[in-house]
Amino acid sequence: MKPPSCPFTQPVLGSVLRLLLLIGLFTAMTEGTPLQAKPIEYFMQPGAPNLHLVEVGIAFTPKTGGGTVDFAIPAWRPGRYQIQNYARNVQQFAAVDEKGTSLRWEKIDKNTWRVTAPKNGAIQVTYKVYANTLDAGSTLLNDEEFYWNGTNVLMYVGGQKNSPTRLTLKVPGHWKVATGLKPGPDVNVFEAPDYDTLADAPGIASPTLDITPFEVEGVPYYLVFQGQLVYQGRPIPKNQIIINLKKAVGEALKIFGPAPYPNYWFLFHSVPDGRFHGVEHLNSTSITVPSSAFSNPATLFRFYSIAVHEFFHAWNVKRIHPQVLGPFDYSREVYTRNLWVAEGITSYYDDLLCKRAAIFDQKAYLALVASSINSLQSAPGRKVTPVSEASFDEWLTPDDARNVETDFYTKGALLGFLLDMEVRQRTENRKSLDDVMRYLNETYAKKGIGYPEDGVQKALEAVSGSSFSEFFSKYVYGVEELPYNTAVHVAGLEVVEVKLTDRAEATLGITLTGDERQAVISNVVPHEAGSLAGLDKGDIFLAIDGKQTTAGNLNEVLRSYKPGDKALVHVFRRGMLREFPVTFQGGGNLSYDVRAVSSPTLMQKQVLAAWLNEAGQ
Ligand SMILES: [Zn+2]
Repeated sequence: MKPPSCPFTQPVLGSVLRLLLLIGLFTAMTEGTPLQAKPIEYFMQPGAPNLHLVEVGIAFTPKTGGGTVDFAIPAWRPGRYQIQNYARNVQQFAAVDEKGTSLRWEKIDKNTWRVTAPKNGAIQVTYKVYANTLDAGSTLLNDEEFYWNGTNVLMYVGGQKNSPTRLTLKVPGHWKVATGLKPGPDVNVFEAPDYDTLADAPGIASPTLDITPFEVEGVPYYLVFQGQLVYQGRPIPKNQIIINLKKAVGEALKIFGPAPYPNYWFLFHSVPDGRFHGVEHLNSTSITVPSSAFSNPATLFRFYSIAVHEFFHAWNVKRIHPQVLGPFDYSREVYTRNLWVAEGITSYYDDLLCKRAAIFDQKAYLALVASSINSLQSAPGRKVTPVSEASFDEWLTPDDARNVETDFYTKGALLGFLLDMEVRQRTENRKSLDDVMRYLNETYAKKGIGYPEDGVQKALEAVSGSSFSEFFSKYVYGVEELPYNTAVHVAGLEVVEVKLTDRAEATLGITLTGDERQAVISNVVPHEAGSLAGLDKGDIFLAIDGKQTTAGNLNEVLRSYKPGDKALVHVFRRGMLREFPVTFQGGGNLSYDVRAVSSPTLMQKQVLAAWLNEAGQ
């Protein structure tokens, strides 16, 4: 319990008083709007950029005086299903009444501040948030910008998540602001019908923000860049990006119909040495990209993939979502076995829409599908953890993740691919996964409700008119290997095994890390050669048959052996030299390729054309 006379430092008290003045003005402004309840007022003001502290204020007037009111900050954010505990960055919490008299408060759990309400009038809460991380889901304040994600910064009022909200951003007048929030009655004032909407619209405020509007089917879109706009003398190719995004947006609208949002914001940070990272929101996406992304074809593909991925989420997960993913319980983990749908099927559609929009050609697209197959088939966890359980347990990170985890992005994307082929096969190309997504949109999203845990299987069955129970039991709830070839035949494709000439066929089933002088075993795959021989994670790897072996030359050393050959491996374990006889296994040079069959039937040609929008190009 904190005493009413909190030991504020003078600068903090100063900012509180400034805030009070501001909130006082808002309170006056909101009077005379009888059609809606008085919004909960939020206020954000960047402090000294090198201290990275954002000042936040909330004014809330309880319906009845007295009692207590809880203010809580989310423990996680939609889009990342892991506990983040944003309360860790909250400091200098204070609460006052309208006269500026301190109110008693106490923390009742890690995320929640309980304030004793005054007999009448508003509770005015202030706190600061340390904001010094730049990724797609973070909040950053530095000398170039203020970038926020609401879940990181804005507390919700207990029992009031459905109340209307208004956010005032106090930034210098010459700064530009980009956010999907609805503009309010004044400059840098925004409104949202409830906390979920407020928190689901990140924003960037900066003097250097680059905003380019464009339009698709009468709806405004905004391409926004913050950060490095020129890389090695070449500016970001905004015109080309807009041409391609327009086509990809058009392909999504072909599936779902008119846009369900009034406008849409692509918020990019171009970061030197940055990484691709995106998060989806109701009518926006926040994405970080390396500044070099536009300089080579592979990373350019990645740029479009991630942009279209986050955009497709505007339907799949933001509107078509499992029941627990909206409205959200931000205080704790929420469980669903459908993240493979939310993320994986979105991953299936990101590259597919890029292909349909002719951003990629067929060859490039099929290479990406093959790359997903190779990625899944080389992951030991696919044999251990069903994708449904990987979804459910996304909140946990096993110590042995590399051997037990199933990546629901990759496996979910491949399931999307196989389900698409399966529906086309069963309906003789009259229906597809597009129809299933449309069915989910009409049946649940447009009614504002989430789908039940078995909703996707039911949707597949409704669209195709046949049972998917065996498919789900084997490949979603089970760990059977995916039947690529049975599925892809309908589109005149085949998944073929190819032997890579630069890769050794013999395998040890271990991963080495380290430099050219010393290697350490960083992973041992169960039931493979190294594991059967007794090698262990952490062993300092010395030699195979006396030949020094490191991460850099392991492949080269293994090329001297065939599957079934025996060798002696030497390692140091806890300071002692140890010797292990191993018997190599095979398959190290195996890779998968997706190809068109040489003489496709008319039906196969039609499926391929419909699936990849070949006819439309
Ligand atoms: Zn995603």
